[in-house]
Amino acid sequence: MHSSVNGPGVRYVLFLQGCPHRCPDCQNPETWDPEKGETILIRDIIKEIKETRYLDGLTLSGGDPFLQPEEAAAVAEAFREEGKDVWCYTGYTWEELLEQKKVPNAKRLLETIDILVDGKFQRDEADPELLYRGSRNQRLINVKLSLIDHNPKIYQEG
Ligand code: SF4
Repeated sequence: MHSSVNGPGVRYVLFLQGCPHRCPDCQNPETWDPEKGETILIRDIIKEIKETRYLDGLTLSGGDPFLQPEEAAAVAEAFREEGKDVWCYTGYTWEELLEQKKVPNAKRLLETIDILVDGKFQRDEADPELLYRGSRNQRLINVKLSLIDHNPKIYQEG
C-alpha cells in the first residue's frame, strides 16, 4: 500500500502479520493472528520498491513488525540502499525492545530504522490532533541518535 499519513512524503507501507498487543480500537485486528495473512517473498517486495521511483520512504506497520524482525530488516535495508528513510510502528516500547526479552533479536531491526513510533494505542491518551500517532503515550523516536546512549531522543519534524 502507498500512503502519505504514516510518515512524511509518499511511503510504501508494509503491513506485517501477527500482533500480541490487542489495543482497544485497533484498526487492523485482522493482522493479530500470526497464522493468517498472505505470504509474500521478500525479493518480490524489494523488486516492487526498487521499481517505484516516486516513493520517499518505507513504513513498517502491522501487526507488529518486531514479530518478524529478520524479514522486516531485510526489506528496510534494501530500501535504505535506495537512499530512502524507514519508519516503524510497534506496540512495544523503546525500553522493552532494548531489553531484548520480549523480542530477543529486536536490535537487528532497530539498526535499520530511522524513526520508531513506539507503544500501544491507549484510548484514554487518544488525540486526533497528533501527527503520525494515535495516542499521547506513543513517541516518535530518532533511532540512530537514541542507540548511541540508549535514551530515547524524540524526533522533531522540520
Ligand atoms: S499494536 Fe497496532 S496492530 Fe497491534 S493491536 Fe495495537 S494498534 Fe493493533
